[in-house]
Amino acid sequence: MPYAVKDKVGFLAEASKILSSSLDYNITLASIAKLVVRNIADFCIIDIVENKKIKRVTVMVSNKKEQKIAELMFNYLPDPRNKKAIYEAVHQKKPIIIKQKTEKWLKSVSRIPAEREIVNLLDLQSFIFTPLKSRRRIIGALTLGLKRTSKRYDEADALLVEELAGRAGLAVDNAKLFTEAKNAIQARDEFMSIASHELKTPLTSILLNLQLTLRKMKNTTSGRIKASDIRKMIELSEQQSQRLSRLITELLNTSVVSTGRLVLEKEQVDLFQLTRNVIERFDLQLKKANTKVVFTGEKVTGNWDLIRLEQVISNLLSNAIKYGNEKPIQIEVYGNKNTAMFKIKDQGIGIDPYSKNRIFERFQRTESAKNFKGLGLGLYIGKQIVEAHGGKIKVESIENEGSTFTVLLPV
Ligand code: ADP
Repeated sequence: MPYAVKDKVGFLAEASKILSSSLDYNITLASIAKLVVRNIADFCIIDIVENKKIKRVTVMVSNKKEQKIAELMFNYLPDPRNKKAIYEAVHQKKPIIIKQKTEKWLKSVSRIPAEREIVNLLDLQSFIFTPLKSRRRIIGALTLGLKRTSKRYDEADALLVEELAGRAGLAVDNAKLFTEAKNAIQARDEFMSIASHELKTPLTSILLNLQLTLRKMKNTTSGRIKASDIRKMIELSEQQSQRLSRLITELLNTSVVSTGRLVLEKEQVDLFQLTRNVIERFDLQLKKANTKVVFTGEKVTGNWDLIRLEQVISNLLSNAIKYGNEKPIQIEVYGNKNTAMFKIKDQGIGIDPYSKNRIFERFQRTESAKNFKGLGLGLYIGKQIVEAHGGKIKVESIENEGSTFTVLLPV
């Protein structure tokens, strides 16, 4: 294997070609690792940070016979407590060169004997750790190792690797942006179909109701129908119109918050009293759902937008009823001199760990919620409202056991 790239321009051109060949960065990075071990290293690892977690994408060696041993490195992800090697490169945002490994150094970068043994088995002597940079941030790291030969890594190698890492970082970022955009379009399409269905349901009900009443009127000689029939028709239409109006308000609110037009009209609000009012308003819905609310807390006042907060609390309570398996719901309101806290705990279907952050985004719904009606907008709007107040909203949940949503507001 040539340990020094003579044609650096050619090497980088080939890398660029590989990087632009696919929008799946797992595939592209594996090809880059292959290129690396063909030209400038005996050993190559590529790590990516995804959802705040490190993912080891590829481990590759120049000697195919040693590939199985090298792949044991998939078991040893870099430890964030270890500020050396990969993490040092990431923090310093520049390559770290280890010209010649010593046992002391190896012990300082790996506390795991089995991991050190792999490095020794592969006879790796010299290393370069480089951050993968993209236009937005550091998104991973590239690790190169050389076996025992006369060649040791130096500053010129690091420069080349840094250039390569820059291009790879950009390619990964583009692939991620592409995936994000694709997912967003898919979510929007799904939303459009749900929204039209949701809007059509109450409208169809109103229409049927009107047609039925009209038919009744036509079938009587006098053209008159019983007052009780008319009343029933009006009640039903009123209920469905309310539902329609709620759905449209939700859509309008989404457009207000997503275009940054949310303006708060603040006044002195008692969160405890506000919550009590909302719970009272849900009385009928709670009875229908065969569930009850246990409400505890104390008066906490702050300068907030009453209508918007009411909306947040109503949505959280409505969700707790909807997804709460008819089990009692606990609500607490407390505060100290800095923060007010609203907490709502249900014992329902819960949320899978993967979805915990996602549900605060537009149109996002969990698989288990798909049996229930909803647009996937309430939490998104809620989060924007809470954050516009300088507050936070978070969720803790165990699937099939229940969810707890907590809203923290500065007083
Ligand atoms: P919607 O309920 O209309 O779908 P939301 O934005 O209020 O929209 O909630 C988004 C998603 O979060 C829901 O579809 C559901 O998957 C999940 N979710 C919200 N609240 C709960 C809860 N209390 N229990 C379980 N899942 C919940």
